[in-house]
Amino acid sequence: MSIFSHPAYDKHEQVAFYQDASSGLKAIIAVHNTNLGPSLGGCRMWPYADDGEALNDVLRLSRGMTYKSAMAGLRLGGGKSVIIGDPRKQKTPELLRAMGDFINTLSGRYITAEDSGTSVEDMHIIGEHTEYVSGLIEGSEHGGDPSPSTAYGVFVGLKAAVEHRWGKSDLNGLKVSVQGVGNVGFRLAKLLREAGAELYVTDIFQDNVDRAVNELDAKAVNAEEIFDLDVDLFAPCAMGAILNDDTIARLRAGAIAGAANNQLAEERHAEVLREKGILYSPDYVINAGGIIDVYYQQQAGYDPQRVQEHIETIGVTMQEVFQRAEETGQTTAHVADRVAEERFGHEDTVKKTDSAAA
Ligand code: NAD
Repeated sequence: MSIFSHPAYDKHEQVAFYQDASSGLKAIIAVHNTNLGPSLGGCRMWPYADDGEALNDVLRLSRGMTYKSAMAGLRLGGGKSVIIGDPRKQKTPELLRAMGDFINTLSGRYITAEDSGTSVEDMHIIGEHTEYVSGLIEGSEHGGDPSPSTAYGVFVGLKAAVEHRWGKSDLNGLKVSVQGVGNVGFRLAKLLREAGAELYVTDIFQDNVDRAVNELDAKAVNAEEIFDLDVDLFAPCAMGAILNDDTIARLRAGAIAGAANNQLAEERHAEVLREKGILYSPDYVINAGGIIDVYYQQQAGYDPQRVQEHIETIGVTMQEVFQRAEETGQTTAHVADRVAEERFGHEDTVKKTDSAAA
């Protein structure tokens, strides 16, 4: 397995592998960039088909965290960890403590948090063996879960998209389709409903759909129908790669603003959206509420008001990205990438900026 020539390798500073025979832990930590601070990113546990799939995931996800934290104005770098295994069958306290030992070997260059397949409770167990773990705050309303903050950040960013696309701040009567009404999607839908939006929802779990229908007066549609609706805005809050040739051709929304990570199947789909006149909210900019919250959980004296104010800056950043994209004729995804790279000092962008200035 190659690292330095791997397609997802992007000047990562460090990639560490670990196995612990007694607990069965097999894990990888990738530290992409620490120019702005220690790398922080979730610990994902997933039954990867093979080691290559796990490596690909951790390289891509850790890079994404660098961009996300830089855009959110945090003094953090980008990192991520993956545990290879089925969380429903193989997750034990011993395995999680061994993960804590692994994280300790990086001496604080990587700080972990919850992610798919891990929970706040798991972070407490990892925290028995390492201090480099976040998302553990006691006594707060959300108990360390970043999802409410992510949903709030998406709501703020979505309003910026509506403002830019239609020149209005009122969401009353706006038709919004939400794909995935789980931890983030349901909370986002609730905020939208409270603001007067008309909701269309889908989810692969019927009880999640029922909750949105019963509590938020949402209309349920099936998993495929969600792409064909005559709505104003599409909010993808389920899985990645959802914006592809097939779905973009079908979408009738004028804007996209959702929580899912890696929404574009390929980079070029940002251009396909632009050509179709659909305003795309770059995923890692709009879904940064959770990392902002987790960052403050790391600091002494967690202040929910301060966290909320920081999350609200997502709206300003989104407006700047939309504006710059409009002025330059570039895609919003391209603009966000360049701004993030300027902030964390990506060598290529800094060189280009320097030579343009010279
Ligand atoms: P979740 O698992 O609680 O919710 C996702 C929902 O999507 C589930 O209810 C699931 O059944 C549904 N779903 C999956 N595939 C679907 C499909 N094909 N069609 C319709 N519904 C489908 O996860 P979450 O924490 O709400 O995260 C949602 C997305 O936001 C993920 O992509 C995640 O990576 C991203 N995200 C989450 C956070 C956070 O703080 N939780 C932060 C940043 C990004």
